[in-house]
Amino acid sequence: MLDESVPTGIDASVPHPARRYNYWLGGKDNFQADRESADEIEAKFPGMRAGVRANRDVLRRITGFLAADAGIRQFLDIGTGLPTADNTHEVAQRIAPNSRVLYVDNDPLVMTHARALLTSTPEGTTDYIQADLREPEKILDSPELRSTLDLGQPVALMLIAILHFLPERERARAIVRQLVDALPSGSYLAATHFTTDFMPADELVVYRQMLDAGRTDIWPSTRAEFTGLFEGLELVEPGVVLATEWRPDGSGPEVDPSRISMWAGVGRKP
Ligand code: SAH
Repeated sequence: MLDESVPTGIDASVPHPARRYNYWLGGKDNFQADRESADEIEAKFPGMRAGVRANRDVLRRITGFLAADAGIRQFLDIGTGLPTADNTHEVAQRIAPNSRVLYVDNDPLVMTHARALLTSTPEGTTDYIQADLREPEKILDSPELRSTLDLGQPVALMLIAILHFLPERERARAIVRQLVDALPSGSYLAATHFTTDFMPADELVVYRQMLDAGRTDIWPSTRAEFTGLFEGLELVEPGVVLATEWRPDGSGPEVDPSRISMWAGVGRKP
């Protein structure tokens, strides 16, 4: 664990999504406050950890689809998370070594681990910037984006398990629109999003109370709200489904689908 050596600029006393997520995935890059927050959420909502793992699995399958089936060679991965097994560039470059990936995250701790994300094949490129999804123009105008990605060629915009950290659904939609507008025809949007659509009624009451009290920063989306993010895009098969149901490859654990609280979808810009 990192408790003994907290990098400068990191506040270990405030739970942070990337570290909590890392803890749920079984990683070591998290602090006491992150683990307590994660355990508190997990105790109340026993599906949370399975949902997080299903999300990581679908990220791998979606990246594989984009590289192998859709022929995508450029990835803009916003909300990268702490490096773990099968980071986007590793999955893509296994299929297409010339894949180019720009990673974006706003957590300074992710920055301190970015070296593990910058292990590109010689044929490809990876780069990392610390930036915020809520300022899409800064991402789009960054020199790193310009040097890593050619916006004249299709790009896959990866917004995997990040949009639910934006409190307002309308704002999320506007940000997605702004980013997709900057990409050429043939580009893709890949997204997953937390939902309470399947949450048992008693858990839902508790969840609403936590949201109101500021004890969780994960904002749910209904299926309709999530599907709205893909407006103007062509959803690829099987459309918007639970993460476990998006082109399953049989490698994931057997889980009760109603405990998987993540929507997944991939759309192509015509
Ligand atoms: N995409 C990865 C990691 C998801 S964890 C996966 O699905 O496996 C969510 C990540 O989003 C965290 O690393 C967190 O730091 C980042 N994040 C949350 N809000 C953000 C924002 N407004 N701007 C940039 N990154 C953000």
